[in-house]
Amino acid sequence: MVPKLVCFDMDGVIFKENYFWNKVHEAYGTLELGLQLNKKYLYTDYHALVHEVMKLWKGKTVQPIFDIVANSEYNPGVRETIKEIKQRGVMTAIISNGSWLLAKRAKQELGISHIFANEIHHHDGLLDGTFTATVDMNGKGVIVARLCEALGITPADVAAVGDDDNDIVMMELVGKSIAFNTRSEKLKNSCDIVVEGNDLRKILPYLF
Ligand SMILES: [Mg+2]
Repeated sequence: MVPKLVCFDMDGVIFKENYFWNKVHEAYGTLELGLQLNKKYLYTDYHALVHEVMKLWKGKTVQPIFDIVANSEYNPGVRETIKEIKQRGVMTAIISNGSWLLAKRAKQELGISHIFANEIHHHDGLLDGTFTATVDMNGKGVIVARLCEALGITPADVAAVGDDDNDIVMMELVGKSIAFNTRSEKLKNSCDIVVEGNDLRKILPYLF
């Protein structure tokens, strides 16, 4: 099957960093608390997690987030891979629990067709304590299904690439699933293909 759409996770797949919001915790000096909150809520109650983290970050300057977005590094071969996929007339999407700003950067620089990610809001340079969770930890499947409907294709026409357990819900849905540079056995077991290493070009032989 040659896909009509390739859906990418962002953190750890398009970009090297695995978890954007932990980088933000680091920048604000809240990593220890952040990791405790992740442990408590990440997969069980994403909205409670967002609520608690927003209490920690409200009023902080947004600049460190802009800096992390600007300094995030692509995995090797990302530009070439997206270019090749586009040249073949196949659509691309990013579906991420990470930062909408970072996804927007990838959309602008790589020409990704569709982006779904989470947006932290700021006003006059300060975080205002609000967050739009477009994609929660169990939400990637719903996004894929909705996007397919909007594009007039079926999930069987879709290939997905991810590196973590939160990608499993989309892997179960799509026609071709690729576990990329992951240590999660659970993800590997739920995918058709396992790609080792972080060079994204390695997925191309499995797509075309
Ligand atoms: Mg990831």
